[in-house]
Amino acid sequence: QEDLFKNVISHAKEYGYIFASSEIYDGLSAVYDYGQNGVELKKNIREYWWKSMVQLHQNIVGLDAAILMHPKTWKASGHVDAFNDPLIDNKDSKKRYRADVLVEDHAEKILQKAQKEIDKAKKRFGDAFDEEQFVATNDRVVRYLNERRDILKRLGDSLTREDLKDVKALIEELEIADPETGSKNWTEVRQFNLMFGTKMGASAETSSDLYLRPETAQGIFVNFSNVQKSGRMKIPFGIAQTGKAFRNEIVARQFIFRMREFEQMEMQFFVRPGEELKWYEHWKEERIKWHYSLNLGEENYRFHDHDKLAHYANAAADIEFNFPFGFKELEGIHSRTDFDLKAHEEHSGRKLRFFDPEMNENYVPYVIETSIGLDRMFLAVLSSSLKEETLEDGSSRTVLKLPAILAPTKAAILPLVKKDGLPELANEIIEELKWDFQVQYDEKDAIGRRYRRQDAAGTPLCITVDHDSLEDRSVTIRYRDSMLQKRVKITELKSLIQQEIDF
Ligand code: ATP
Repeated sequence: QEDLFKNVISHAKEYGYIFASSEIYDGLSAVYDYGQNGVELKKNIREYWWKSMVQLHQNIVGLDAAILMHPKTWKASGHVDAFNDPLIDNKDSKKRYRADVLVEDHAEKILQKAQKEIDKAKKRFGDAFDEEQFVATNDRVVRYLNERRDILKRLGDSLTREDLKDVKALIEELEIADPETGSKNWTEVRQFNLMFGTKMGASAETSSDLYLRPETAQGIFVNFSNVQKSGRMKIPFGIAQTGKAFRNEIVARQFIFRMREFEQMEMQFFVRPGEELKWYEHWKEERIKWHYSLNLGEENYRFHDHDKLAHYANAAADIEFNFPFGFKELEGIHSRTDFDLKAHEEHSGRKLRFFDPEMNENYVPYVIETSIGLDRMFLAVLSSSLKEETLEDGSSRTVLKLPAILAPTKAAILPLVKKDGLPELANEIIEELKWDFQVQYDEKDAIGRRYRRQDAAGTPLCITVDHDSLEDRSVTIRYRDSMLQKRVKITELKSLIQQEIDF
């Protein structure tokens, strides 16, 4: 698994998906740039989300609020007082860690031990192996799973000030060591605020302290009445937004999983008080369906329902994904009650209410939130698509089996040779297709190598122009996943590419 993760990171760089930020200056920790292919994949994921939310729902509209907001916003939302991470230092190594992440990683290791037992048994029993029964009855596996469950239960889902001592005790009891040095000499756990501060205005006297937004959600809440009134929206309705968020993460590692500058895709759905749990269930179901629709493997997803809730929520669940380093949060679905709108009413003095004509009543709506990290989704797509395949002739190929709808380039147009009018015909085809699809011209190297390069870059289709094409206006189309090739008319290309995308 560790190897897979290393491969993903180096592949992402080699094929122009992700670079370290300001790399020529040795990079900036936990900040990344998206290259020529990365920007397309990211845009396609964002668009896939946006269409499913906004275009497919008559009662959901979009918004693009600014990153900088009035500082009172963050007082009202609770971020000034409570947006903290529990930190712990190792006294010997002087390294700083997130206390909850240390415990979670420990729990994940126990899970991996259980998985090892399962894998061993699978090998031993072959086809006759009944995994469910084995997991339920094998003493060691049962013990590991129980141990892990107990630890996570004691850790809880969100740590309050009072819990900090318990976490320290848990770290000591489990004898968790500094992952780098093995030392178990820990300090107390402390709270650390994650917001990035900045200044607005030029002179020292008139400038004011601002924060870079740590989530996009608050831009939606403060615009609730603007959108509701100008859009004549009736409850239930939603507001969707994608955009950058910033967090001064302390344990910034695992590539683009935990970044200091990242992008969120959030939707806040406003409902009648008392109906929120029904809508919470509805959106849990909708969101998992969205994930399944991409065919990354249903077994790679699981729900984690929170036992312990943040101060603003009355129900919460994560959708976790099987990343190369184990199952981790990809998306959160939260029933946020009327906490945010009420807090903004109090701090702004403005009413944030809805007059419900059917109930003949004015109320502060309740909110269901779906919140997914675009970069985390990118990592989920990239890591689950990267495959090393052994072919029939014994050779191997690296192939990035991206869902065609998300692939940066839909088709590569390849003249068999760089002469005899083939490049001209290839370019004619590009002129024809480029209005509908992102296509790419490539004439360098032998055709086999070009196929391999497109496989590794994730291009679902290659279209080869040869000498016969000049006569019969036909080309060879090659499919990335099956490697099958067929001869088709140039006039059929548009609909064939479209078919591949509408899987
Ligand atoms: P975590 O527990 O992993 O720090 P969180 O519970 O703080 O995440 P939320 O505040 O619920 O995350 O944010 C919603 C989504 O935003 C997350 O599910 C995740 O996909 C994404 N996200 C949060 N923090 C980061 C980050 N530092 N880098 C990339 N994506 C992030």
